[in-house]
Amino acid sequence: MLPSEAELQLLFARLNNEYFNGNAPNCRIAYNERFSNSAGRITYGRKPLLIELSPKHFRRSPSALEETLLHEMVHAWCYEKYKDTGHGTRFRRKMRECGLSSIYHDLGHVRPSNESSRRYILRCEACAFEVLRRRVPRKPASCPRCNHRRFDPRFPLAVYEIVETRLLDSAGPDVAAAYKGSRSG
Ligand SMILES: [Zn+2]
Ligand SMILES: [Zn+2]
Repeated sequence: MLPSEAELQLLFARLNNEYFNGNAPNCRIAYNERFSNSAGRITYGRKPLLIELSPKHFRRSPSALEETLLHEMVHAWCYEKYKDTGHGTRFRRKMRECGLSSIYHDLGHVRPSNESSRRYILRCEACAFEVLRRRVPRKPASCPRCNHRRFDPRFPLAVYEIVETRLLDSAGPDVAAAYKGSRSG
C-alpha cells in the first residue's frame, strides 16, 4: 500500500526536520497517475513548490519512494537557498548529508532528465490537462480541454518550470551508466 497524500505530507515534514532543520521550502507532495515514464518531478513557479510522485512506479518499488522524495527535497532546498537546480557541488554535499550516496543509487533505472529542451509545463488546475513547452507563452493561455472554442479566463493554464523529471529508463542500466558519464555535475 502506498502512503496517502496526507501521509506523504507528513513524511515530507519528518524528512524536513531530520535533514534540513525544517528549512526545506514548503512543498506540496502529490501523486500523478499520468506519469508513465517518470518516477518523480519537481516544479516551481508558484509557492508552494510541487513535488509529484508516480504511483505506478512506487507500487512496484515502494522502498524507493522515500529516497526519491528526499532527492527532490534536496533540489527544493538548493533552489530556495541558491537558485541552484543542478546536481553540482551544493547538491551533492547536501545529498551526502542526507545519507544519499549517489544521485542514481537504488533508483533502479531512474535518471534525471535534463536533456529535454521542453522545460515548461502549462497546466490547467481545473482538469489537470498539461502540455510541455520550450518557452513561456507570450500571452496567457487557457485550457483547450475545458473550453476548446476560445480563450476562457476561468480556466487559465498556469506556467511551471520543470526543475527535474526523473525518467524511468526502459533501456536499462548500461544506458543509465553512459548517461551518468556524460552528464556529471
Ligand atoms: Zn535530481
Ligand atoms: Zn482544463
